[in-house]
Amino acid sequence: MLFHSDKTKDNLVAAMPRYVYSWFYYSGLRAMPALDSIPYSREDEHFLWKVWYTVGTIFPKHHGAKKMITRKTFTSLLLLFVVLCATVYAQTRTEVAFPDINGYRTITADLHMHTVFSDGTVWPTVRVGEAWRNGLDVLSITDHLEYLPHKDDVLPKFNRPYEIAKPEADKMGIMLIRGAEITRDEPHGHFNAIFLSDCEPLNTPDQKDAVKAAQEQGAFIWWNHPEWKRDDGKAWCEIQQEYLDLGWMHGLEVFNGGSYYVNAHQWALDHNLTLLGNTDIHAPIDEIYNYAEGEHRTMTLVFVKENTPEGLKEALFERRTVVFGSGKLVGREEWLRPLIEASVKMETSDITLRGKSPVVVSVFNACAAPLDLELADRPSGIAFPKSLLLPSGKSAQMRVQGGGNAPAGTGPIEVSYAVKNALLAPNTPLTIKLVFKVTFAQ
Ligand SMILES: [Zn+2]
Ligand SMILES: [Zn+2]
Repeated sequence: MLFHSDKTKDNLVAAMPRYVYSWFYYSGLRAMPALDSIPYSREDEHFLWKVWYTVGTIFPKHHGAKKMITRKTFTSLLLLFVVLCATVYAQTRTEVAFPDINGYRTITADLHMHTVFSDGTVWPTVRVGEAWRNGLDVLSITDHLEYLPHKDDVLPKFNRPYEIAKPEADKMGIMLIRGAEITRDEPHGHFNAIFLSDCEPLNTPDQKDAVKAAQEQGAFIWWNHPEWKRDDGKAWCEIQQEYLDLGWMHGLEVFNGGSYYVNAHQWALDHNLTLLGNTDIHAPIDEIYNYAEGEHRTMTLVFVKENTPEGLKEALFERRTVVFGSGKLVGREEWLRPLIEASVKMETSDITLRGKSPVVVSVFNACAAPLDLELADRPSGIAFPKSLLLPSGKSAQMRVQGGGNAPAGTGPIEVSYAVKNALLAPNTPLTIKLVFKVTFAQ
């Protein structure tokens, strides 16, 4: 009844649980809470080996027609299960966790990308599936109006990407916004317009007419990748000033893909423009962002009153955004401060220091961005870590140590940390205060 196979076969059979389990472990199935709590160790392998051995005992190799199920059948069923699980994995969504703040709901948007209808390499519905898997709430496909390298194979119909993707977006609960990219040479550069009712009128010979046509449709318009071809700080020219004065430019991309534009960040602040970050993705998303390695696509966090196109539009015009690109958060203090403060959670703020014995406080980071803290200011006589890295969704230990000569008593103390990857302005990180109630005991 037991294994009658030779040694090599036995070893292969013994290894099966490890292969199957490691497959589960490294596939998206570990995202299921029940499986995620199981650490992968030698003991698990041993346990699974026993399960496999028992299975071999119950369902032995086929020795006669009377057996109801053979090991071969069982193996086939197991493989079928694995294939079915692979299908489930393909549909896994990585949620992007950021807290709601100031009474607004936080939603995630990528408002700049391409398909085969301009110079991208994917069909519009693929963008919707990618957005769902990457945890986005809002998507805008913004194909170029003027640069159409596939036009001999794909008809240049500027509303089609939206029309094709819309049923899929509705099915997946993704908010799809109609948009286009007005693509002209520098110094004009590229502008995105979204909330369009019809993209066709933007296809004009004159660049200014295109932006005007978007404005006439009540579009939200911004300057894309302002420093893409000119990073000497002089990309802002007469035409941008003219659009700003006319009220035709409402925002700027401070992040485009993995590029952060320092000067554009300052221009957005100087001219009171909405801060935006988008992928401008042309290839399949997985070719550019490696989610398995913890990378994330560039996106804009938008703080909305309601999760509708009207709610999104109102929030964008009112500049209620924070950009999340390459692990950095870029935003105005009004939005970035509450976002970070709601994300950093201390296990306790009530500590007792005895002599020079250190106390360890767990600090949890509830947001999708890892937070890189650097000590900015501390009270004298108490030591805090010089730097503290808070990985996303995890706790880190903060060691607090007294000098040993403080008089007994209780009182509040404050320690300040600069969040190095949360920028209020170029080279200006946000600083947060952690407040403790400290008791000095003898
Ligand atoms: Zn562009
Ligand atoms: Zn583009």
